[in-house]
Amino acid sequence: MLGEVTETWNPVIGCNHGCVYCWARRLARRLASMGVEPYASYAFRPTFLPNRLKKRFKKGSMVFVCDMGDLFGEWVPEEWIRSVLDVVRRQPQACFMFLTKNPGRYLRLENLFPENALLAATIESNRDYGMSRAPKPSARLEAMRLLKHPYKGVVVEPIMDFDECFVRALRDVGPVFVYIGYDNYGYRLPEPPLGKTMELTRMLRGFTEVKVGTLRTAWYERAQGF
Ligand code: SF4
Repeated sequence: MLGEVTETWNPVIGCNHGCVYCWARRLARRLASMGVEPYASYAFRPTFLPNRLKKRFKKGSMVFVCDMGDLFGEWVPEEWIRSVLDVVRRQPQACFMFLTKNPGRYLRLENLFPENALLAATIESNRDYGMSRAPKPSARLEAMRLLKHPYKGVVVEPIMDFDECFVRALRDVGPVFVYIGYDNYGYRLPEPPLGKTMELTRMLRGFTEVKVGTLRTAWYERAQGF
């Protein structure tokens, strides 16, 4: 089930969660300023692009669905989600990874997901730093824990400093993978020191597959010459 992402697919774009560090919003604005559609017309407004539902995926593809928005935001009409999931169900030759900051909506729609869907949530820390209008990390962890779908993942990116209980909360989710990475865009987030992240990684490897993105010293460690 779990492989490297081979392509992205955005039948719905845009997001209202307003995370301070959102790279997708930044990219959408840049593409809009260059006249690239659909961003030139819609920028980062939640938008359904039904033409994209016709796409066929190759056998063995791992498709990252809606990396340019959040398909499970509360503002997304359920019919958009159902249309996307119909395509997923009709194409069992490929796997489809979803990623949201509102996994409570996975829970409410749980019976719609076929086995070739991997349901992931971004949970940057167990602490709430107030940098997003998305549900708090504690609510995301709880929703992921309650989800019975067999293929679940957690993306801890951009990682922010966390408490000891974060490891247990992640274990309780029962993820098939946890992805960890630092901020790539210089936002000076309240990130943990590298040693603490490495220890988290070691503990997670005790019960799940750990994938890593950018692993580096925290910005303040570099400023202090560590
Ligand atoms: S949830 Fe994702 S897409 Fe939406 S604002 Fe936050 S980082 Fe951007």
